[in-house]
Order: sequence, then structure tokens, then C-alpha cells
Amino acid sequence: MGIRVPTIGPDENAIRCRGCGSLIEGQPFRVSVMDTVAIERAPSSAGQTPINPGPFQFHPDPACVRAWMRERGYLFCRHGSVRALMRPVVIPGEPPRLGLCDGMHRDDHAFVPA
Ligand SMILES: [Zn+2]
Ligand SMILES: [Zn+2]
Repeated sequence: MGIRVPTIGPDENAIRCRGCGSLIEGQPFRVSVMDTVAIERAPSSAGQTPINPGPFQFHPDPACVRAWMRERGYLFCRHGSVRALMRPVVIPGEPPRLGLCDGMHRDDHAFVPA
């Protein structure tokens, strides 16, 4: 009792990175997406697509998080950086797109493909 046996074993405890799909050894980097008012006000032509808040698990490498954003068609604010908590921002357009930003800067967002 009280002795922790390291489990090296079949994949049952394995965590896969949502960005690159390979196994994560050690601590995953978790990213959650906040729910904001902006989402509720999103143009609803395509219906209100609820965003999955996560948390999503990645390698501790922003490239993996950005790969995930790219795959989903999210844009990334280049004034922000990849953090554990990202704010979704609706970018008007046809169709409207979603950008993710850490919300830590005061100037305007500058969304670019992730
Ligand atoms: Zn990865
Ligand atoms: Zn921003």
C-alpha cells in the first residue's frame, strides 16, 4: 500500500496529442476553450455550432496546438500565444470563422491561419 507502481503498459493510460496524434509521454499540455458571449451572438446561418470547450491534450509544443487549430479551420491571433485557456472570437464573414486568442493583449486581434 502506498507504493506507486509505474505503469508501463498497453495503451490504456496513453494520451494522444490532438495535434499530431502521437503518444504523449509525461505531462500533456491542456488547452481549454472558453465560452464567450461572442459565440452566442454568432451569425447563425450555419446553425449554432457549439464549441467543445475541451480540455484538449497536446504535447507541450505550441506547434501541436496550432496543428489542431489548423485542422479545425480556426484562426490564431498573432498577438496572442498558445495558452491553457483560449478565448474564441467570431470573425464575421461567409462563412463566419472562429479565431482563438489568449485575450492577453489590448490592441486589436490579428487573426491569421494557425
Ligand atoms: Zn503533438
Ligand atoms: Zn488577439
